Amino acid sequence: MFRAELLERAARFRSAEDDPTRNLQSCPSLVLNADYTPLSYYPLSLWPWQTAIKAIFLDRVDVIATYDREVHSPNLDMKIPSVIALKQYVKPSEFPAFTRFNLFLRDRFSCQFCGDQHNLTFDHVTPRRLGGKTTWENIATACAPCNMKKGGRTPKQAGMQLYAEPIRPTHWQLQQHGKMFPPNYLHETWRDWLYWDIELEE
Ligand SMILES: [Zn+2]
Repeated sequence: MFRAELLERAARFRSAEDDPTRNLQSCPSLVLNADYTPLSYYPLSLWPWQTAIKAIFLDRVDVIATYDREVHSPNLDMKIPSVIALKQYVKPSEFPAFTRFNLFLRDRFSCQFCGDQHNLTFDHVTPRRLGGKTTWENIATACAPCNMKKGGRTPKQAGMQLYAEPIRPTHWQLQQHGKMFPPNYLHETWRDWLYWDIELEE
């Protein structure tokens, strides 16, 4: 139940993104790093097929799998790539950018006081009027009602408990959280590359 709600939340979040690559009809290519792990799980690293084909001709990627659909031009017939891998490994930065999206992802899109996944806002754990800064370590995801209830107080003053102390997450930690939100539009050729390290459920 909880998981279903999380997925629903993720789906709604996604639909807010007006991005043509988030649509299987447009044949996006899943982009893997040179070690064959996705460049990003959430949002999933996808390129428009035109970009993927360009990268093939620049010899920057290998084609791992293809769609059945082909593109034709006077001097080229080729299947549209569905999975490509970079030839050169891209080292992810250790610490991700401090953005709204990454902050929500760190907190798994849920209020850190009550777990609700609706009407999410950002709460200064130590309020600004008490010198609280706008940093990874002092901002927590909070639903609007909890944010209102807490007001300009510390959690202790308000008698409210955080699920976890806010931390500056590593890139790896965010990727782990991103894996909790599988897209609902997976192409069959993507699956092996997305969940290879997750135990299969019976
Ligand atoms: Zn709440």
